[in-house]
Amino acid sequence: MLPLFVFIDACGWEILQRDPFLEGLAPNRRRLTSVFGYSSACVPSILSGRWPAEHRNWNYFVYDPANSPFRFLRALRWLPTALTSRRIFRRRLSRLLKTRLGFRGYFDLYNLPFKYISLYNFTEKRSPLQPGGMNRGPNIFDHLVEQKISYFVSDPAREEDWNLGALIAEIRSERIDFAFQYWPGLDGLLHMVGNKSEKVPAKLRIYEGWIGQLMEAAQEHYEEVRLYVFSDHGMANCDVLLDLKGEIDRLPLRMPEDYAVVYDSTMARFWFFNDRARETVMNRLTAIQGGRILPDAELAELGALFPDRYFGELIFLAKEGVLIVPSHMGARPIRAMHGYHPTEKHSNAALCTNQDSIPDDVTAIPHMYQMMTRDADIAKLRNAAAAEVEVGGRGGQSGVFPPL
Ligand SMILES: [Zn+2]
Repeated sequence: MLPLFVFIDACGWEILQRDPFLEGLAPNRRRLTSVFGYSSACVPSILSGRWPAEHRNWNYFVYDPANSPFRFLRALRWLPTALTSRRIFRRRLSRLLKTRLGFRGYFDLYNLPFKYISLYNFTEKRSPLQPGGMNRGPNIFDHLVEQKISYFVSDPAREEDWNLGALIAEIRSERIDFAFQYWPGLDGLLHMVGNKSEKVPAKLRIYEGWIGQLMEAAQEHYEEVRLYVFSDHGMANCDVLLDLKGEIDRLPLRMPEDYAVVYDSTMARFWFFNDRARETVMNRLTAIQGGRILPDAELAELGALFPDRYFGELIFLAKEGVLIVPSHMGARPIRAMHGYHPTEKHSNAALCTNQDSIPDDVTAIPHMYQMMTRDADIAKLRNAAAAEVEVGGRGGQSGVFPPL
């Protein structure tokens, strides 16, 4: 038996409403509630079965000057913005930094200003796609290693089709009892073209073809293949731009003496160093139409209330379709975004499977973890039993097993 988990970033429930995606290979569909945050929050929640307040992988950048690994970059604040705000410059620098600082996960400096960079720390220093990759607690890969279950996981540094080829090779070797394939391409496409573009169904057709190839190989080498194709969130078109930074910069406050802030593309997270700053910012935010301050009770319900306020004392969230721009994530507008409230229409994720039933309690993306551990454990037992029968019954034709 092979449990085949294919994770397609941003393949949201709403997108699938207009598309016959996988109606042959994985006809059983369910809407899954997403997790509040970006992929930096959603992916670790899927991989650990827990919410951000529990695993502490939420947003990438936090105000943490005492532990900032970026202090040496302050010298770059003297370089002209025409150079330092360019994507190519930032991408190359991010790659160099990732190596120098030993970050194992995804890393990008985005649009964080060098003037203030020494105030910030980066929260995903490990890779959630590896054992020991969570900021707190275990993930699926810790479980697989502990249970000695041999598995495939895609390499996020490689292209999607390279990972497809690598998984097909693993399937043909019959070495694995579990597979986790991660494809990020649809997310990038949706950000650029929006959720109504014809390029979206075209990309889904490519994924369908690839999943067909995976299933064909898997069914040749395994008696039972449990296919789960799922996502972390959807994607909303951004038709309203909100210059929140401009609004806050106009207040009679100084950064970083009075306050610090990270402008993500759909939320702003503030830290205050005096009551006047807190009050002034709160008053201004309350008057803004495009979003609202999230009360603690609501953050707690969303599994995103951090008692130590590590990710910000105050969280302002934009309404679906409102993009905060410029932000620390980008200087220019993009067509579509995610990271809105999980109850917004386009936040919903999806699960498509070839299994007749999906347990009733699988309703949100962290529940994918239960499905993964359950099926991995079953596959290991069944495959070990089948291998023994085969070795005994057929004179050890398949007697070579991978070291676990
Ligand atoms: Zn994205």
